[in-house]
Amino acid sequence: MKKSYLPAVIFLCLGLKCFPQKFAPDVAAYIKINTPTFAITHVKLIDGTGNAAMPDETVIVANGKIEQVGPYNKVKIPAGIQIIDGTAKTLIPGLVMLHEHLFYTVMAGKHFNVAEMPWSFPRLYLAGGATTIRTGGSIEPQTDLNLKRMISEGTMLGPNMDVTAPYFEEGPGYDIPSLSTINGPKDAAVTANYWADRGCTSFKIYVHATRADMAAVIAEAHKRNLKVTGHIGAVTYHEAAEMGIDNLEHGFAVSSDFDSLKVPDKIDDRRQFQSLLDLPLKSQKMKDLMQYLITKHVAITSTLPVFEPITGREAFPGDAGGALISEIREPLEKLCQALQGKDDNGIAAFKQELFWEKQFYDMGGVLLAGSDPTGEGRVIAGYSNHREIELLAEAGFTPEQAIKICTLNGAIYLNRQNEIGTIAAGKNADLVLVNGDITTDIKNIRKTEIVFKSGIGFDSQKIFGSVKGHVGMN
Ligand SMILES: [Zn+2]
Repeated sequence: MKKSYLPAVIFLCLGLKCFPQKFAPDVAAYIKINTPTFAITHVKLIDGTGNAAMPDETVIVANGKIEQVGPYNKVKIPAGIQIIDGTAKTLIPGLVMLHEHLFYTVMAGKHFNVAEMPWSFPRLYLAGGATTIRTGGSIEPQTDLNLKRMISEGTMLGPNMDVTAPYFEEGPGYDIPSLSTINGPKDAAVTANYWADRGCTSFKIYVHATRADMAAVIAEAHKRNLKVTGHIGAVTYHEAAEMGIDNLEHGFAVSSDFDSLKVPDKIDDRRQFQSLLDLPLKSQKMKDLMQYLITKHVAITSTLPVFEPITGREAFPGDAGGALISEIREPLEKLCQALQGKDDNGIAAFKQELFWEKQFYDMGGVLLAGSDPTGEGRVIAGYSNHREIELLAEAGFTPEQAIKICTLNGAIYLNRQNEIGTIAAGKNADLVLVNGDITTDIKNIRKTEIVFKSGIGFDSQKIFGSVKGHVGMN
């Protein structure tokens, strides 16, 4: 009698990842490394903890996990395994980016609007080194949830995803056609539970939501041990922290706390913007707010690329322009040329933002990072992850601190720090090999070469190449 060996094979595959792992052809085409055990040698290592970079390190990966990390001359490399020479390269943890979107700015006539990019954006995030993203509000939650599943099944390229429910915005808000709105706190609570039941694991409050709306969402989310963030306005940062919000988006740039004429539960955008511009850099009031946020354990998400001024800078942060369809790229380039030297307020606000984010971090605040590919449409997924790291360096963070903000801090926020966020034995082999030394020139971060997700190495530049001329279409 011939015995079937199938059950034994299935048993093994449940416990360990079987290599080579199987992927759909369109995914497999971008895989460079798909072997159970390999070593990256002689590499400059930034481990994500904020500690100083280590020269000449070796990392051994086995079955999707990091098995050993140490100086080259101390780590014994098993005979016969694949060696990746990391000489003159930098290894960092896979990025954990917390304000990402699978949509991009596509105007509806004169109305600001966004459209889902289900093909190009997930792969761009992976190419840019992001192995885990939290979407910062969704417009097509069903698409985001399906993409998350397809990526995990190996039929789509992309990062691991924490999917945020549709925005909680009190209607009509800004009249953004694709944005969902709620009608008061009861509706907010029902909506939160509806999307949590369907797999959304984060929530985001938007600008015109009231204190009652926010309280309702926080109550329902916290019952399920899920977290709430906000790009808020009608509610101040201080009020939100008092109500127990977990996270606030866009650094300090959308705080309405300093508008002396503010009406409760209302936002006046012009006054809000001016009230921050009027604030001195070293404002004691701002320091007091930061201290309160720290006391209340509210994390702040830095989203610098979406605030980057136009004058004297790249039209598309991170040199992303080539990814766009020409029908979008060309008018945007013209707009950027026309606005050169005309964005003084934007430049002043950006300088404040850089200073305040660094101050908050130095005071002991938890700073997270994201790239928010929206605004005028200059910010493109993946490229923007590189640019966020460069702009954190511009704010005065060391490369090691910038990487920590974009890795470990995000992992801690998502309660996944035991699996991801640093390069340490036992963690998932989520790694980014960069072709250059980012401690001597932060711009080398653009040279992401191999992005490892659970030990599978994806060809970053090949993925970037596949997207040229697509963004804006799909
Ligand atoms: Zn956003």
